[in-house]
Amino acid sequence: MREVCFIIAGEQILGIYVGSRLAIPDSRDRWQVIWKHRKKITEIAHTHPGGLLRFSETDLTTMEAVESGIGRRLAWSIVTSDGYLFQSGARIKVRLEDPWWLESLRELSFGSGPEMTNAERIATSSHVVNSAEPTPTCHGIVKRRRIHSSFSALRED
Ligand SMILES: [Zn+2]
Repeated sequence: MREVCFIIAGEQILGIYVGSRLAIPDSRDRWQVIWKHRKKITEIAHTHPGGLLRFSETDLTTMEAVESGIGRRLAWSIVTSDGYLFQSGARIKVRLEDPWWLESLRELSFGSGPEMTNAERIATSSHVVNSAEPTPTCHGIVKRRRIHSSFSALRED
């Protein structure tokens, strides 16, 4: 298990960040992706491998910082192995249907096998940017890997 974060714009996943069981490293790169796509990002989702189905203090601080940075509200999701929490416009909401990316996010985060197996499998068939530099995301500092995945086309514009 590992924490995984998706930056989503409608039908596209703009960025995938894979962390450790406890956290995803922060990165300048991640912030740059958010900033570059600030007008079209619809949602930022991440997993809690530990199963906590609520936004942590760190999450709330990060959400506030991101929204204030880009000047608008976003939708945010927390995904656990069997739970899903969605917040939009400062309110926790219930989604009647699972979003299209939910299964992929769970597979990456909770899929069986040794650490990084799923990410590496995807990495072999997609464009991957690796950086030794510690990077910004949801929580602490650990190993990081950014995948512009084969899940959906990444459109640089
Ligand atoms: Zn979190």
